[in-house]
This record gives sequence, C-alpha cells and structure tokens, in this order.
Amino acid sequence: MADGTRTTRAAAESRRTRAAADAATEEKTRTARPELVVADPPPEPDYPRYRVEPGAGLRLADVDPDESEHFRKKKDVLPELERNRDRIAELQSRLYAENRRSVLLVLQAMDTGGKDGTIKHVFEGVNPQGCQVSSFKAPSAEEAAHDFLWRYHQHVPSRGMIGIFNRSHYEDVLVVRVKDLVPEEVWRPRYEVINQFEHALTLSGVTVLKFYLHISKDEQKRRLESRLADPDKRWKFSANDLRERRHWDAYMAAFEEAIGNTSTEHAPWYVVPANNKWYRNLVIARTIADTLEAMDPRYPEPEEGLDAVAVDD
Ligand code: ATP
Ligand code: MG
Repeated sequence: MADGTRTTRAAAESRRTRAAADAATEEKTRTARPELVVADPPPEPDYPRYRVEPGAGLRLADVDPDESEHFRKKKDVLPELERNRDRIAELQSRLYAENRRSVLLVLQAMDTGGKDGTIKHVFEGVNPQGCQVSSFKAPSAEEAAHDFLWRYHQHVPSRGMIGIFNRSHYEDVLVVRVKDLVPEEVWRPRYEVINQFEHALTLSGVTVLKFYLHISKDEQKRRLESRLADPDKRWKFSANDLRERRHWDAYMAAFEEAIGNTSTEHAPWYVVPANNKWYRNLVIARTIADTLEAMDPRYPEPEEGLDAVAVDD
C-alpha cells in the first residue's frame, strides 16, 4: 500500500516535471521566434528579422549593412520607431510588475558601430527603474583572476528587469582571439561554454537576445572622421579605435564564427544592418517589442475585494 502510494506520487511528480519542461520549451520557442505569435507585426506581417538560423552558419558578406527595406531616410521610420518604443514601454512596465522573468539584450559591434546610440534611441521613454545597462571594458585584475563568465554573470538582470550588455561575454571570443590574449585551446571551447551558460539562463526565466550591429569598413571610416572633425564629438575619438581597425578582417572572421556557433533556439543572434542608424534603431526596437509581446508579461492579479475598498479621509 505504502509502495503503491509512493508509485502514484512518483508518477504524478514525473507528469508535473514533464508538463513544466513542455511549458518551458514552448515559452522558449515563442520568444525565440516571436513572429509565430505576435499578431499583426508592423509594417507587414513578415518584415525581415535578420535572425541567424541556428546551425546555419553565417557569412557577414551576405548581409548588406546598407539595407533599409523601403525606407529612404530617418523621417520615414519615425512613426514606426515611435510605435515600437511605446510597445516596449508598455510591455516593460508589465514585465516589471509581473516580477517573474527578465530579458537580457547583448549588443556587440565594431568601434563606432552604434551600441551607445542604440541604447539611447531604442530605450527613450522606458522607465529607467526597470532597465540596467552594463558596459564591459578590458577586465580588471580581480575579474581576470576568475573564470571568464564571472563578471558577466553578476550583471544578468534579476526578475522583472531588462538588462543591456554593452559589450559582453562575447569579447572573450572576439578581442581575446584577435589580439591573441589567450591561445586557441582556451577561447575555442568557450563557444560551447557560452551556449550552456545562456541555456541555463533561459531555464531560469531569462530571455536572451543578441544583436550584432553590422557596419561596413567604409562607414567606420566616415564615423571616425566625423568624430575628428566635430569638436563636440572629439571626446569620443580614441587612437585605440585606429589600432583595432587595422584588424578589421580578423574581427569579421571572429564575429562570423562566434555568431554562427552561438545562435541557438534559446538565444538567437540578430545581424542588424547598421550603416543607417535610423534603420538599425527600428529593427532592434521591433525585435525587442515582438519578443516582449511573445513573452506576454502580465500584471499580477490584484487583491480580492478591492471594489469594496474605500480609502479613509
Ligand atoms: P565607447 O568607445 O563608445 O566609449 P567602448 O565599448 O568601445 O565604448 P572603450 O573603452 O573604447 O569602450 O573600449 C573598451 C575596450 O575593452 C574594447 O577595445 C574592448 O575590446 C575591450 N574589452 C572588452 N572586454 C574585454 C575582454 N574580456 N578582454 C579584453 N578586452 C576587452
Ligand atoms: Mg571605444
């Protein structure tokens, strides 16, 4: 009898575990492919998403950094951008109130690629209380004394929050590879380590999406020259950017391989045409809005009986 009860309990437990796993998988699929669930995404049901299909590999030369669909100039995208910012603001407020899940956005690009501009323009109007930006430079002595993920893990957004990584754990397979900071036997296995890390995050309720802002080498030249020419932009100019630029081809190879190996069902990469800043902002804003919508965050149920509540004078 006691044995029978144990068996029934075990079976019920195993059914619950399976149901929970199924629900988690279903949620992951929805958020990694928001177009399957988002009703009426603008401007057409099927705008380009620039997602790198898992396992398909990536050739950056196949993505035109100048692309901008039918939009010709900044003015053309503004209403659409505004609409998507409003969607993000509304959904972020629900995500915060729900306090159950979080979103991690990874931004990677070559110097001048527009990481700062993206944060500024896409998150305009979003409640700063629910967002946190973490910028990663070369590691400190303490950070370098730990495993490479240590410093990033601490900045993963807590429940209810949107976390933005301005540079990220991907530097440890990019700059580290290009500048030969560690040998290949050390950086190569990191693709797998990163995939497992991100998978573990998604299993604890973190939706991960990653953007590579794709600019051309010519566009970088123009942006560096404009920083030199404008006294108000000179503070942004760094001689180090010129040194990194000399490794352009090695960086492209490193990005291609890193993105190709780490775009997964649970944590997809988006390669965003970014020569036109306004188009880049639109693509990223709608991808975030669609993903949040697919997550479907909800305000918590209010306490019961509130209709009868009166506030004392
Ligand atoms: P901005 O120039 O817009 O202020 P940034 O992200 O380029 O922003 P910088 O201080 O110019 O900031 O550069 C940070 C540098 O730190 C980059 O050259 C980057 O490659 C380097 N870096 C980041 N993470 C690592 C890492 N894990 N190991 C070595 N270098 C790193
Ligand atoms: Mg810089």
